[in-house]
Amino acid sequence: MQWKSVLRDFSVRRSNCMSICRGQNKLLWVSLVGVGLGLVVLFYFEPGKYPFYPFCPFHELTGLNCPACGSLRALHQLSHGNILAAFHFNPLLVISLPVLGIVLVRNLSARFTGSPLQPIECRPLVLWLALGVFVAFGILRNLHFTSLYRLGP
Ligand SMILES: [Zn+2]
Repeated sequence: MQWKSVLRDFSVRRSNCMSICRGQNKLLWVSLVGVGLGLVVLFYFEPGKYPFYPFCPFHELTGLNCPACGSLRALHQLSHGNILAAFHFNPLLVISLPVLGIVLVRNLSARFTGSPLQPIECRPLVLWLALGVFVAFGILRNLHFTSLYRLGP
């Protein structure tokens, strides 16, 4: 008697889990298609020449460049193989793309193979250093006497 309720309970939980997983897979596929379409648009339509690209609210308000300013233009240049031009628009993005790519491929491969995603071992010091680099880059790229200023978008 009791094992039947355990089985029924397990079956309900498994069904709920599978519907959640199916929902997550749909979200994943929609996200991948959206990113793919965005990359196609980015490849064919140069940011700065077309008005449909989003603007940076920080830049609009202050006139200063945030750490992400120039990222779309850098991705456009990268999609055409112009690494130096991409570096000119946003060197931090170009430098961090390999790390972001590794994390993305790792997550996607775990998702598609069904293997459990192992947490990335990352010390808090590394995260604080990354945040410090991000903030320092955002400050230095707006100072006229630094070489990062010349690399502004
Ligand atoms: Zn910005």
